[in-house]
Order: sequence, then C-alpha cells, then structure tokens
Amino acid sequence: MDVRKEIRVLDPQTVGKIAAGEVIERPLSVVKELVENAIDAGSTAITVEIRDGGISLIRVTDNGCGIPAGEVRLAFTEHATSKIRSLDDLSRISSLGFRGEALSSIASVSRVELITKEKDALTGVRYVAEGGKELALEEVGAPQGTTFLVRDLFYNIPARRKFMKSARTEGSAILSLMEHLALSHDGISFQVISEGRSALQTGGNSNPKDVIYHLYGRDIAENLLYVEKDYGHLVMRGFIGKPNVSRGNRNFENYFVNGRFIKSPLISKSIEDAYHSFLMLHQYPFTALTIEIDGQEVDVNVHPQKMELKFQDPETIYEEVYGALRQVLEQKELIPEVQAPAPAPVKESLKEGSSIQAEPPISKPQSRPQPLPEPFETGRKELPKITKENQLRLNLEYEEETKPKFKILGQVFRTYWIVEQEERLLLVDQHAAHEKVIFERLMQRKRQKEVYSQTLSPGFVLTLSPTEQTALADHKELFLEAGYEIEDFGGNSVEITAVPADIYGLGEKQYFLELLDELATLHKKTETDELYLRIATMSCKAAIKGNQDLSVAEFESLMEQLFACENPYQCPHGRPTMISMTRYDLERKFKRIV
Ligand code: ADP
Ligand code: MG
Repeated sequence: MDVRKEIRVLDPQTVGKIAAGEVIERPLSVVKELVENAIDAGSTAITVEIRDGGISLIRVTDNGCGIPAGEVRLAFTEHATSKIRSLDDLSRISSLGFRGEALSSIASVSRVELITKEKDALTGVRYVAEGGKELALEEVGAPQGTTFLVRDLFYNIPARRKFMKSARTEGSAILSLMEHLALSHDGISFQVISEGRSALQTGGNSNPKDVIYHLYGRDIAENLLYVEKDYGHLVMRGFIGKPNVSRGNRNFENYFVNGRFIKSPLISKSIEDAYHSFLMLHQYPFTALTIEIDGQEVDVNVHPQKMELKFQDPETIYEEVYGALRQVLEQKELIPEVQAPAPAPVKESLKEGSSIQAEPPISKPQSRPQPLPEPFETGRKELPKITKENQLRLNLEYEEETKPKFKILGQVFRTYWIVEQEERLLLVDQHAAHEKVIFERLMQRKRQKEVYSQTLSPGFVLTLSPTEQTALADHKELFLEAGYEIEDFGGNSVEITAVPADIYGLGEKQYFLELLDELATLHKKTETDELYLRIATMSCKAAIKGNQDLSVAEFESLMEQLFACENPYQCPHGRPTMISMTRYDLERKFKRIV
C-alpha cells in the first residue's frame, strides 16, 4: 500500500483554521476572549448573550473605548494587538489578552459581525466576515463601545462542530466563567442572557460583597471575613468564608492572580491548609481573593486556554497566602453566638417563650480567654491524679499559666454544660468537645511524630476477614504510627497488644474494626496524611457521648484541653462545640438595655 504522499505547504486558510483551533476550542473560549477584550477596553458595563450554549450565537456588548475605524481591519489580522509592542512588555503586562490572535481566530471559524464606535468619533463602523473573509466594512450610527456577534461557531469545521459539548454543558461553563470575571471585576456591571433569560447580573458598584451576594446569595455574603495583606511583592485582598459556609468541593475556591482566574494546586493547598482544623474533612472553603504578585515572579506567558501560572518562588507564595488567611481565621472566635432578638414589646417577647436559639450563627471578633487565675479557682477541689489509665479523660497537658478562666455552673440533659466565662455564657456539648480534643491531639502527635501507646495485657485477639487482612497489610505502618502494636496470632487472627493512648478505654476493639472497614474502602495509594486524617476523624467515635456521665472534674479538664486546641469551637465534623451568649445579649433579653 502506498502510504506516502508528497510534501506540500498548507494553504493559508488551512493554516489559519489549525491555528484558530488552538485558541478557540469551544464557545467558552470565544466568550472569554471577547469579554476579556471588553474589560481591557475599560468598559464599565458588559452584556453577554448566548444561544444554544453559544454555538449558534454569542453577543458581547460593551461600553468601552471602541476600536478606531482605521484599525478595525487590522484588529482581525493575526498577531495584531494594541496591548504590547515587544517581548519586553510581557513582564509588565496588565491587560488580560496580549497575543493578538483572538479576533482573527474567531473570525476564521465563524460568521462575525462587529459594530464599534470610539468616544469622540462621529460615526461607528460595521464589519462583517465569514470564515475569515471580509464581507462588509461600512459606516454606521452606533453608541460608544463595541458589540461582537459571533454566529454558527465552527460552521466551516464540521469535525469540530460534531465534538461540541451539549448546549447545556457549554452554557453552564460560560456562566461559571462569567461568575469569575464578575467576582474579579467588581467595578464592572455584568449581565448574562442565556437562551433568552437573564442568568447573571451584577451591579458594578465596586463593592465586592455585593457581587458575592448577587452570585452566591445571602448565606455566603453574611458569613465573610475580610483579608488584606501586603507583603510588598505580593498583595492579597478579598473575602473568605467562615467555616460554617464550606462546601463539599472546590468550586467555591475563587482566587485571581494578577487579574486572572486560575486554578493553582499551590494556592489551593495553602488556602486549604489555612482552613485546616476549622473545616471538617472533605470540606472546602469559599474564597474570593485577589492576589497581585510582582510580574517578575510569575510566568505570564501562559497559553490562552490554560489557567495555570508558574511561580518563581512557590514556597514563599505558599507561606504568605497561608499566613494571611491563618491570621484572619485565628483572630476570630468562630463560636456561633446566641443572638438576642431585637427589642420587642414586652407582651410579645413573653409569648415567644424566650428560648435560646443557636442561630443565626454569626461570629464576632472577641479576645481569647485571658490566662489570669480567678479567685474561685483557688478554692476548688483537687483534681484526680493523672494516670495512664485515665489519660484520655484527664489529660492535663499544659501548665497552670495558660489555664483559661471559666466557671462550670452545671449540666443540662446530661449532655450540655453551662459555663460562665468572662462576659459570656457558654453552652458546651460534651460529645463535640471531646471529639475535638481527641482529634486535635492525634493530629498534633502526628505532626510532632510522637506515638503514645497504651499497652494492653492481655491484648485482644481478632479474627479478620480477607478484606480486613488486606486493609491491615496495606496500612500497617499507619496503625503503628498511630500507636497500635499488632502481632500475628496465627491463621487469620491478630493480637492487638497496644492501642493509641488517646482512645484507651473507649471501645478500642470496636473502633479498630471500624477503622479497618473504613480503610478497606480506600485505595491502597491514598496519601498517608489523608489516611491519618481519617484515623483521627474516626477516633472521634471513641469520644464520650451525650448522656454519658462525666464528673465536674473530668469536664473541667476537658474544657481546659478544649481551650488549648488550635480551634476549640468546631468539632472535626464541623459542628459547633459550644454556643455562647454574651452578657449584653442577656441584658437585651431582659430588657435592661434596649
Ligand atoms: P489582544 O486582545 O491579544 O490584543 P485580540 O485579537 O483579542 O488581541 O484583539 C485585537 C485588538 O483589537 C486588541 O488589541 C484591541 O486593540 C482591539 N479590541 C478587541 N476587542 C476590543 C473591544 N471590545 N474594545 C476595544 N478594542 C478592542
Ligand atoms: Mg484579546
């Protein structure tokens, strides 16, 4: 068979289509290029309309600077740009596009119509092209700004058209792009009309909170923390969600580096690590952060379709992003406060029964407990001695200086403890509190590479199923790291001769089996850190339950440990460990103050 054909240079149109295919992959790319151009043109209002997910029509209208009549044709020429003049400009680039390929590419794979007028020009210009071939260039009356109409994308590349995603998929990808653009440009009013319906609208009043409200709703908008940090070469600004508005995936992690929405594993990791201990497992925060990094430190020569950037000094970037968020998160005591309702006529508030409500969970900045000893503490009764056996329940691991002052007043429903602390009343869930203490301690031990084991004599013998045996073989290291000692007992049996001290006496046999089951469902290659996190989270099962008796002394030591936690206010599953009511709230309730 003759497989060889003679070598020939491709005709310019084919070359153009191939090149265009690299810039314009789908309707999403057209919208991105056109809207970025509109932003670069200094617009304050941009409307995007799509039909059939952008396949049959994309319209982008802006009120920006417009294109001079004499440059319209040039704008559609390959590598024609007003944004850079030479390679040297690349490191200083502040506009979104600069390669000068978008318009020529779009035009070569669709039917394009452009109407544009500069501010001071008397008339506008209309330009029409099909498949890159000019059909019209004429004077028209037009408002200031630019409108692009892109019809029948890939009409001349049937193969590409066939592989197009569904209009629905494309439409939602475009919406998500527009959300990101709107978030990062709060001074621009965006409107998106999809299949004839308004799908997104922002006010453009330069208030980022308003944009967040428009895009994500009240729940998120009311639970934001402000971040602002200037490291010189890196400046960060924006909002992050309080832990109570986390999500099960990363879709709400928005950040913009030098104006671009990107996905960076490095930045995601620094954000997620900062939230560590504030969020439950597999929960991700909401963020809307702009990060400006010195142009010299970021590789801006990015492919138009790739949303990745290269950093010159990734470690520093990690540390700084992490540090800025951590500082904000740690400053706030994220305890859901009991809100006193607004003063109402006395009769009505009597009817309402004045029950304590745990919502809405809004936190206010408060100072951390002061380490001063209180007079009431001096006369308190001796706490039982710490022994290995009760290490978990009475693990007083820190010094008398650091002891937070609080007064335990009693317990209700055998579950919730009433605690007075400075100017507030706390209701503490003993189960959630204990979970938190065990979890943080295990995580801390892991970090410090400490192993605390409690030897059992005799140990307990377990017969394992084949799945359990495999899970144990796969993750044996991890068990050892956590403090287990496991011996072969012959056949399918193992003997557990030591368990992590933190769960000793709390049903360790059942816990061990549950842990094995959990690990059996995981992939062998799951990262050790992730596994350990699971172990720690599961260990919370060993925590004392509500309704389980706890002496005052035991609870007191639990409270002390709780306050020594990095974040005492949420259990590893994200539930509050305590709710609080301030003196002020009480006084409002009793109408001492209005
Ligand atoms: P680039 O954006 O990389 O410069 P494009 O092909 O996207 O290249 O656009 C070419 C040029 O056309 C831009 O540099 C700009 O001068 C002009 N232009 C494109 N869109 C607009 C617009 N909406 N308003 C004003 N000028 C525009
Ligand atoms: Mg462009």
